[in-house]
Amino acid sequence: MNIQQRITFLFTAVCAGILGIFMLVVYLSASKNRANEFYNILEKEAITKVNLLIETQLDSFTLQTIYRNNRKILYEVETAIYDDQYNLIYHDAVDIDFVKETPEMLSEILDAKRIQFTQEDWQVIGIVHHSKGMDYLVTAAAFDGYGFSKLNNLRSTMMITFIIGLVVIFMTGKYFSKNSLLPLSKMSEEARKISASNLDLRLKEGNDEIGTMAKTFNAMLERLEKSFESQKQFVSYLAHEFRTPLAIIIGEVELSLSKPRQAEDYQQTLETVLKDSKKIAQLSESFLDLAKASYDKAEVNFQKVRLDECLIEASQKLQRNHANYRVELDLDESIDEGTITINGNSYLLSTAFRNLLENACKYSENNSCKVHITSIDKKCHISFSDQGVGISIDELDDIFKPFFRGSSRELSEGSGIGLYLVEKIIQLHEGKIFVDSEVGKGSTFTVIL
Ligand code: ADP
Repeated sequence: MNIQQRITFLFTAVCAGILGIFMLVVYLSASKNRANEFYNILEKEAITKVNLLIETQLDSFTLQTIYRNNRKILYEVETAIYDDQYNLIYHDAVDIDFVKETPEMLSEILDAKRIQFTQEDWQVIGIVHHSKGMDYLVTAAAFDGYGFSKLNNLRSTMMITFIIGLVVIFMTGKYFSKNSLLPLSKMSEEARKISASNLDLRLKEGNDEIGTMAKTFNAMLERLEKSFESQKQFVSYLAHEFRTPLAIIIGEVELSLSKPRQAEDYQQTLETVLKDSKKIAQLSESFLDLAKASYDKAEVNFQKVRLDECLIEASQKLQRNHANYRVELDLDESIDEGTITINGNSYLLSTAFRNLLENACKYSENNSCKVHITSIDKKCHISFSDQGVGISIDELDDIFKPFFRGSSRELSEGSGIGLYLVEKIIQLHEGKIFVDSEVGKGSTFTVIL
């Protein structure tokens, strides 16, 4: 069942329920009124007959004749009159007696002065009437044919009205649900046209709730388009980065194979091939790290890690490859165990720290980096400072972009994805990274975790 159908059925059910309850209340109240009014009529009839018989001294035969003649046409009330000794004084028609007055019933009337009840569909009342110093017990019974037929008419009218009402409510519900969901159907039709090849398409934005949804959807498209574009750009960068060292390797090998050469020539070629192969290996390792860092947080294995241990590991790994690089670790004494231990991935954190250490060492003449770890507001601040070439203001905005290499690139080899990778890893750990640099004086990268 789709939303439109669900709304229609829900609307119909709610309205039908309200209409049904309303009709039931009207019907029950009409039924109660009919019964009460008829008891009143019965009482009046009973009193009239007692008066005719006792006060006016009309003879019983005339009264009985009136009863028998009108019985069927006017639903004539059947009356019986007893004296206070329970002796029958008058009865409209003993032969067709409907209510059997027992001594118990008569004494109940005498005690209560007025009783009323139903027998089958007939309504019966019993009253005590005082006349000429005597108490008379009068019972009057009749079937309210007119009242019941009115009630039946009311019920039929209500049933028909209810069914017609139900159809009208259903149609109205269907119309309204269709109308209110129309913008949604239009929106899904527009959204269906959007695919990877035309991510620039946008949904129409209105001011209502659906318009807000379209705005959210468009914002998502915007992000998707950007990430799709950067992915595309990234892949082309990637191909380009691999192509250069591979082209050098192929060229070198082809050249040396073109004619027989001296052993030194081959050695020189092999050295070039080794250098570029290392570059490719380093590149692919960086991309592998990048792929890991780009994961969803839920997919990366997070556990309690000590940041100082990650730093030591990073510096050891760095020094294994570059024995001349110097790293000085300075751990603030005030820092406690809780601040230096975070929930993270030690491999990724070590990779990020190694990149920052390596940059600091490779872009400074003394090839050294000072690392200071301190705690501010229960957060761990790690700064990587060097006294190197520094970064110009124009380049500061770009250094975290993939494959960006600044003017200092002549100083050392690199791929331009180091800082991009570092930023991704820090973001994955919900941390922040800042840079403060002055050309010719050095740079400080601060990581807050
Ligand atoms: P790579 O070092 O491979 O070129 P990175 O992404 O690590 O790539 O760095 C991007 C650029 O930022 C570098 O090319 C360099 O110009 C600049 N840079 C990064 N760290 C430093 C630093 N400590 N001192 C000076 N320049 C730096």
